[in-house]
Amino acid sequence: MSLPVFETVADLRAYLTPLRAQKIAFVPTMGALHVGHLELVKRARKAADHVVISIFVNPTQFAPHEDFNAYPRDLKLDAQKIAELNLDHLSVFAPRVDEIYPAGQDIISMSDAMLEITSRWEGEARPAHFAGVATVVRRLFEIVQPNVAFFGEKDFQQLQVVQQLTQDFSMPVEIVGVPTVREASGLALSSRNAYLSETERNQIAPELFAALAAAANSIRTTGRPQEALIAAYEKLTATGFHQVDYIAYVDSQSLAPLAALQAQPSRLLAAAWLGKTRLIDNIAVT
Ligand code: AMP
Repeated sequence: MSLPVFETVADLRAYLTPLRAQKIAFVPTMGALHVGHLELVKRARKAADHVVISIFVNPTQFAPHEDFNAYPRDLKLDAQKIAELNLDHLSVFAPRVDEIYPAGQDIISMSDAMLEITSRWEGEARPAHFAGVATVVRRLFEIVQPNVAFFGEKDFQQLQVVQQLTQDFSMPVEIVGVPTVREASGLALSSRNAYLSETERNQIAPELFAALAAAANSIRTTGRPQEALIAAYEKLTATGFHQVDYIAYVDSQSLAPLAALQAQPSRLLAAAWLGKTRLIDNIAVT
């Protein structure tokens, strides 16, 4: 199956123009593709006639001290992984930075609702990260003009940011969240797992999900998040995570912290450092 790879907006547009009457799905990624990304592509192809997969390491969502330069990049290998899915009507958009930001890297202004969603958790640990994410997603949506776009629940707060973005700018794009794909150990697949040593990856990193799963059970049983959060924090630091940025029980939509078990959708979110690698994960509680 041939897989067209476009590097310019003009070439992608020319390809998509005759397809506009059909349903177009979009899967934005930063490359270094793994089975989690490929699951988004498969879901997208089931839901639409054509799927555009973007591969773009977005500079505006990285802080100066973060891993923008070190982030793994291998377009050839990524294209091969997509081609091996053996699905038709897929295409790849792999632009250079100046294709996405021809007029400079201006960040969009955020609504009050967006500021509310982005003020906590990842937003607190990584100021400016979500402004960069919202900026690039808006730009990519303008270019691709998809009917539907697929995002992983792995980045749960990002999923809420993108939902809010489509509301704030009245974008005619349906947003679909896809459950996190995990290794057998429970570790969420992530491009950043490549930074981990074998021991970190096999023995310590899976404890992040194990701690979240145990805390979720505890909250469901006792109704009280506080003890569960403390136990999870202690478990993580005892196992070898040297810093826990946050572990929180939150409302799934607003992401505001909850002091007691609630019946409406709620979630545990966590971020923790293992050596030089920062891992995030989350799990549904209700
Ligand atoms: P990234 O390349 O890390 O920006 O991720 C691109 C998309 O893949 C995002 O929507 C992520 O949430 C999603 N994703 C990353 N890891 C996983 C995973 N383990 N399972 C499902 N989706 C994922």
